[in-house]
Amino acid sequence: MIPVNEALQIISAETSPLNPESVALTEALGRVLAEEIRADSDLPPFDRSQMDGYAIRAEDVATTPARLRIAGESAAGRGWHHQLEAGAAVRIMTGAPVPAGADSVQQVELTRELENRSIVEILESVSPGRSIVKRGSEINSGEIVLRAGERINSAMVAVLASFGYANVNVATRPRVAILATGTELVPVDQKPGQDQIRDSNNYSIDAYAKLAGAETELLPLAGDDIEGLKRTIASAAERADLVVTSGGVSMGIYDFTKAALKQLGAEIFFERVALRPGKPTVFGRLPGGTLVFGLPGNPVSVSVTFNLFARPCLLQMQGATQTQLTELSALLAGPIKGSSDRESYLPAELTTNDQGQLLAKPLKWGGSSDFVAFARTAALIIVPTGVTSLAPGDTVRLLELPD
Ligand code: AMP
Ligand code: MG
Repeated sequence: MIPVNEALQIISAETSPLNPESVALTEALGRVLAEEIRADSDLPPFDRSQMDGYAIRAEDVATTPARLRIAGESAAGRGWHHQLEAGAAVRIMTGAPVPAGADSVQQVELTRELENRSIVEILESVSPGRSIVKRGSEINSGEIVLRAGERINSAMVAVLASFGYANVNVATRPRVAILATGTELVPVDQKPGQDQIRDSNNYSIDAYAKLAGAETELLPLAGDDIEGLKRTIASAAERADLVVTSGGVSMGIYDFTKAALKQLGAEIFFERVALRPGKPTVFGRLPGGTLVFGLPGNPVSVSVTFNLFARPCLLQMQGATQTQLTELSALLAGPIKGSSDRESYLPAELTTNDQGQLLAKPLKWGGSSDFVAFARTAALIIVPTGVTSLAPGDTVRLLELPD
């Protein structure tokens, strides 16, 4: 049995990045950047007005009201490219370039046009610089704006557009083949017969893998039959970067996943982790190079072990800088039990108390199988090895689950 952090180090050491690919900017959301992004121009590219109003010289309106001659107009996309003289103003729109000679903009609400719109009366003084965003004040040409390894969010898409990235280099999505094992399983569209249950693990793994940036393939359900398992895993491995199985890794006489992997010639890096739930988790590499996780069958264990182990593996394949789940701290809202020899990751709902403090409400769960209650889980409470009980009010560390 190895500790969780050692399992994570092994996964990290065995995982290699996939080659990047170029995608259209509209396909870039959620992908991991594979190149450094630099500004190809100053932003803003010129001194820009923040208001509709008048570009003026602050000293001309030191005493108000002040009357100025309207010398022209600067609109967004169509500036007024002359020198502003003393005693003059230029009508200006938001986003338009501020003419040379002007040092400030007074907003239109504090002005009044007179004499057939040839004169403007400025009703309040301004200080120099008012309502002007100086050229390059957001960023200068050549500066780094985004780094390889960052996951592209919607705000970053706008940044990429601003600097001309119609296409952008991102990590290739890892291909994940997902296999549920167990003779008791029937597909989701069938009514379970006697002694049967519907497969749910394929769908939770599919969802979590997609959240980790993967492309997924659900394999046909495999019974507890070693030859069938071997065939399905071997053929999936030919096209997948990672195979994730669920079920069949415990000590039962029909638990064949590990035996199937070993008979296929897989190198097994670990097969027992000091973790609750999820102790029998397996990690290895198949002969062609495809990595494989054998997760335990019970659906809560699947969610915990996938997110602890398979998610960082998938993110590392994509060269992501951030591969671990976000850590939070909260006050415990109910008692929980830990284990003397394993680290526990216990499902919890998150709420806040009257003081706005984060509360972790442990889920009532029957052993590790109550996955209907698990649907409300937002985080996993980490209980260190050897801490056998925690009480309400204790501060705990949590990992936030992706959703
Ligand atoms: P196993 O790890 O194969 O011993 O399975 C542990 C428990 O999880 C058993 O109660 C299984 O019936 C259940 N289980 C295994 N695979 C699935 C699945 N794909 N969907 C739902 N439950 C499952
Ligand atoms: Mg089973």
